Amino acid sequence: MSAITSKLLFTPRERIDQPIVVFEEGRIVEVSSRAQRELPAQVLDLGDAVLVPGFVDLHIHGGAGCDVMEKGGVRVVSRFLARHGVTGYLPTTVTAPIEKTLSALDRIATDIEKGDETGARPRGIHLEGPFLSHLRRGVHPEKDLLKPSVQMFDRFWEAARGHIRMMTIAPELDGALEVIAGAATRGVLMSLGHSDASLEASRSGIEAGARHVTHTFNAMRPLDHRAPGILGVALTDARLSADIIADGLHTDPSMVGLFLRAKGPDASVLITDGLSPTGMPDGHYHLGSLEVEVKDGLCVSNGTIAGSVLTLDQAVRNVMKFARWNLQDSIALASLNPARAAGLSDVGTLKPGARADFAVLTAQGEVRQTIIGGTFAES
Ligand SMILES: [Zn+2]
Repeated sequence: MSAITSKLLFTPRERIDQPIVVFEEGRIVEVSSRAQRELPAQVLDLGDAVLVPGFVDLHIHGGAGCDVMEKGGVRVVSRFLARHGVTGYLPTTVTAPIEKTLSALDRIATDIEKGDETGARPRGIHLEGPFLSHLRRGVHPEKDLLKPSVQMFDRFWEAARGHIRMMTIAPELDGALEVIAGAATRGVLMSLGHSDASLEASRSGIEAGARHVTHTFNAMRPLDHRAPGILGVALTDARLSADIIADGLHTDPSMVGLFLRAKGPDASVLITDGLSPTGMPDGHYHLGSLEVEVKDGLCVSNGTIAGSVLTLDQAVRNVMKFARWNLQDSIALASLNPARAAGLSDVGTLKPGARADFAVLTAQGEVRQTIIGGTFAES
């Protein structure tokens, strides 16, 4: 049994001053305040820190020089993420030749099953592609994009041994609705993205079972007030949660503000779409089989903006800066909201029974320490 205390805790929906959290065998047993109970004999005092749920990143390809599709990539990325308050994430594939994707899925599934406790835990796989729009593919290689098919999805599902937790798909493609319906039934979060969909096609995607939107504004048909398309649905349909890369480069800070007003504190999700150069100096790196150049924080492949070098803790601070949201509301976008969207009920919130995963923050949202399954991660 271990106990920690600090100045403040956000569950995140509830605020607890002078909190005490008791945990055992990696799970939270009790969350209360020092006013309500006696201090246990042994309690670790984290001083003026703010305790919040460990962050959950639904969209991340790599970091610290490694890509999750490479051998050994997940291990390196897990450790890197723990330095940024992230305790759970979905290793995300980029569109690649089928055999390469299948072997990456098999390897990542093994990492998920092993449950290495020394870094952030991979909690399932996010398949970004290959069922994406040719018109809105971003840097996903044209030659590897495929027409959606249930049969192909089943091959991915088998290779990943059922560990696919999220998939980004363009709903307007032939066969997409069948894939969405089948995968949603298996509990996969089906997310609309890399799409040129009209309003109607986007709504059909939702009818089929889609419940989320991938990197809102990026790699989708731009908003038009007479033909609003996918963004009209993404920003206004309450059935959908949506994520955004809040680095100020993929979307202007004012558009981050518009997004947050539209989706609100419950349906907005922060992601990084982080690539292997995250945490590394400018230079040349890999994303799946693509070459990426990083200069002044911008990742470019063949002249097209690729993923980011953003970290999730920085995204939280950017929301505080861009939209003047407070820390409590901002951290929910990186913890409770992504966990809920992906159906991860044991993380994202500090309550009895949940995993003892915490980000230990300053009042400004800087990460001091990360606790994963009750153990302090090496910083
Ligand atoms: Zn993308």
